[in-house]
Amino acid sequence: MKAVVMKFGGTSVEDAVAINRTAKIVQGRIDQGQRPVVVVSAMAKVTDQLLAAAKSAGRGDRNGALAISARLRNRHCDTSAALLPAAAQGPIQSWIQQEFDSIDEILRGLSAVGELTLRTNDMVVSFGERLSSRLITEAFRNQGMNAVHVDARTVIVTDAQHGKATPDSALIEARCQQYLQPLVDAGQVPILGGFIGSTVEGVTTTLGRGGSDYTAALVGGGLEAEAIEIWTDVNGIMTADPRVCPDALRVKTISFEEAAELAYFGAKVLHPATILPAVQKNIPVLVLNSRNAQNEGTRITALATHCSSPFKSIAAKKKLTIIDLVASRMLMSHGYLRAVFEIFDKHKTAVDMVSTSEVSVSLTVDSNEQLPELAADLSKLADVTYEGRKALICMVGGNIRGQNGIAAQVFHAIRHINVRMISQGAAEINMSFMIDEDDVDEAVRSLHAAFFVDPDPDIFDITARKAIESVHL
Ligand code: ADP
Ligand code: ASP
Ligand code: MG
Repeated sequence: MKAVVMKFGGTSVEDAVAINRTAKIVQGRIDQGQRPVVVVSAMAKVTDQLLAAAKSAGRGDRNGALAISARLRNRHCDTSAALLPAAAQGPIQSWIQQEFDSIDEILRGLSAVGELTLRTNDMVVSFGERLSSRLITEAFRNQGMNAVHVDARTVIVTDAQHGKATPDSALIEARCQQYLQPLVDAGQVPILGGFIGSTVEGVTTTLGRGGSDYTAALVGGGLEAEAIEIWTDVNGIMTADPRVCPDALRVKTISFEEAAELAYFGAKVLHPATILPAVQKNIPVLVLNSRNAQNEGTRITALATHCSSPFKSIAAKKKLTIIDLVASRMLMSHGYLRAVFEIFDKHKTAVDMVSTSEVSVSLTVDSNEQLPELAADLSKLADVTYEGRKALICMVGGNIRGQNGIAAQVFHAIRHINVRMISQGAAEINMSFMIDEDDVDEAVRSLHAAFFVDPDPDIFDITARKAIESVHL
């Protein structure tokens, strides 16, 4: 029988109240005759705090690291106490204590050595999902569900690129069939931590920040699930980040292609890699709100539905750097750009946007600590300057193809803002440009006001806006 993969993000499992809400949502699916497989993130902010603890320990700040761990220990114990009746507390409480004893042992070791490797960082940070998934399994069982904990590291096999490991889809598919499908067939509810994996040798890895969405998609692909549901703290994919633009509207349906662009260019609501396993198997992805479970969310499907508005959503990606290379004679000579990109490859740095002229080439990259080394290598080919604190705004919509005057409207809406680089994707479903990081919120709001005045009601949920308008009448 086909499973439905339900992934709950950090805010959906942040405390006992949220976990109980999540349990109700999953039980609702079981009541409808569906077979859920649940993927959970660490409780909200736990990943950040584990990273901070590892970093402190790596600098030799033993007490600082242990203090963070002690706070997390209390939070997990308190949540467990609030979720389970006293009689069921014993084993889980002592297990939580043991897990934190292991974390503290690693932190002590790290601070003695004063060095943090990516491999140990992964080990420390993996505890977030390891803890949440066990705790949630106990809570679900206590609510009467036939939930079974599955260590995600037995299913999600990756390479050894710590911090952002690449999953091995073929092996994962085999493991999903071996470990998860029999549980689904037996009417049990497997619960796995997202984000974490392991190499074939059994070394713990992680899939990169926000990677629990990716776990859900890999499991969905491996099980050929009927749907992959990403449960979060907003009503779905919105026309802009609602934290930046409070009047953002829910997008009812969006294509895989459009969602992938949005995710890649900064819409945190979905991890960019989530789309691929779903596209390959043509599994619909839904983005839903665990605080408003009745809402129908956003449906991501293979084909774009016709939309009369040019854009579906606006994404923004911050913390970028523009690198300018000026090489008056060489630039357009044969093989020059190849030499440039080989240097980016050597430093494992991905480029988001490129623009070239006869004498110069500008590229944008994520700001990172390796930039000085990268620039030093590039300076063998050209005069190099780089400038950080830049951001990319990406306007996405399948309907910009062949529409006249769209670019003029975009740049008119932000005429008061300085634009550094511009690009329109070859697939013609996005229009992107670089601005200063400080201008992002203002730019997103201005663009939203310009392009979502009269939204297509088949694509966007305009009920909230209508309610506001009727109050003003
Ligand atoms: P989770 O912990 O559930 O994975 P995230 O914090 O990773 O949740 O993603 C949800 C957040 O993404 C929202 O709270 C919202 O602020 C942000 N976000 C950014 N862009 C968008 C967008 N276009 N639509 C919806 N949410 C967005
Ligand atoms: N807990 C991880 C993070 O915060 C993974 C996730 O939640 O998707 O990045
Ligand atoms: Mg997320």
